[in-house]
Amino acid sequence: MSPNSLANPSVLTQPVYEPGKPIEDVARELGLDPSTIIKLASNENPLGPSPLAQAAAIKAVSEAQLYPDGGCFRLRQRLSTHLSLPASQIVVGNGSNELLELLGHVFLRPGDEAVMGNPAFVVYKLVSLLFSARAIEVPLVNHTHDLPAMLRAITPRTKLVFLACPNNPTGTANSAADILAFARALPEHVVLVYDEAYAEYVENPPDLRPLIAEGRKVICLRTFSKIYGLAAFRVGYGATTPEIASLLQRVRQPFNVNALGQAAALAALDDTDFVRRSIATNNAGLRQLEAGFSTLGLEWVPSTGNFMLVKVGDGAATFQALQARGVITRPVGSYGLPTWLRVTVGTQPQNERLLRELAAILKPAS
Ligand SMILES: *Cc1c(COP(=O)(O)O)cnc(C)c1O
Repeated sequence: MSPNSLANPSVLTQPVYEPGKPIEDVARELGLDPSTIIKLASNENPLGPSPLAQAAAIKAVSEAQLYPDGGCFRLRQRLSTHLSLPASQIVVGNGSNELLELLGHVFLRPGDEAVMGNPAFVVYKLVSLLFSARAIEVPLVNHTHDLPAMLRAITPRTKLVFLACPNNPTGTANSAADILAFARALPEHVVLVYDEAYAEYVENPPDLRPLIAEGRKVICLRTFSKIYGLAAFRVGYGATTPEIASLLQRVRQPFNVNALGQAAALAALDDTDFVRRSIATNNAGLRQLEAGFSTLGLEWVPSTGNFMLVKVGDGAATFQALQARGVITRPVGSYGLPTWLRVTVGTQPQNERLLRELAAILKPAS
């Protein structure tokens, strides 16, 4: 008897997430020197990890024999100050991806529906399908979430609505007024999962805490993977109502967030200088890429995140050609955008390299 015949049917049909290619893999496959390769594929911080976080993680290694604090007490206290929200309303996860999965555990039953944009972060769909819920994908308009259409897509079976601002892979943002009105218009039986993975890059991002204070069913997800440069440690958090927080606490594993990650995240919140530098680097990089793409005659989508969509014609072929030249980007054909590439904003020299290689590929010397 094949183990497949024993498996939960949703496992057999589950699509597989394709991560950005690690530098080591590309170096091995193409016989390139890893030090010459740049990765602009996964929206990581090109400045590296916060220095304060690095030091804190190294210090924490000396106590690696101990299980971590399963309740993330100190980190939640610190986040409580950071967010001006009681610690009882904060849940920490193994990346915000784990919190997305925990939301599935808590809320999704077979036949339920989850509403999301298309394209949107693919994990929303993966989580929905894993719990045998239907992923109701609402096409974006102008690369931006169509909030009225998402409201119309809600039925009595809808449990979760996923909304990212800025959205991945488009980098676009709905206005704060529109998002707040959207959240207020959601019916009682729906939980809004508001993904703010890139919010720290945005000046005055929409603030949904007043809705949480009103007791609305909203969870705001943030991560240490992006601006804090700690993707390897896997730490993310959710800010929500006390009731939703305690439901999520019930379904997580006892030690879901490792001790090095907790120590690093705690220190990163104090590294305001690093955050400031990261924002400045990103803003300069966005302007550099916008100007560079325009010079190459390429269409691009204005972004408020640390990544951009650029229209290159054949996305898959351009991805391969760039990769052969040591620049890893993200093809987005699986997001229904086969003529586009998503590129992470790098440092000034990295962006220059990307633009140079792109120019060489698109306009070969005749
Ligand atoms: C990168 C990203 C995340 C972060 O995931 P982690 O699990 O915290 O690393 C979440 N949502 C979106 C939209 C992202 O792009």
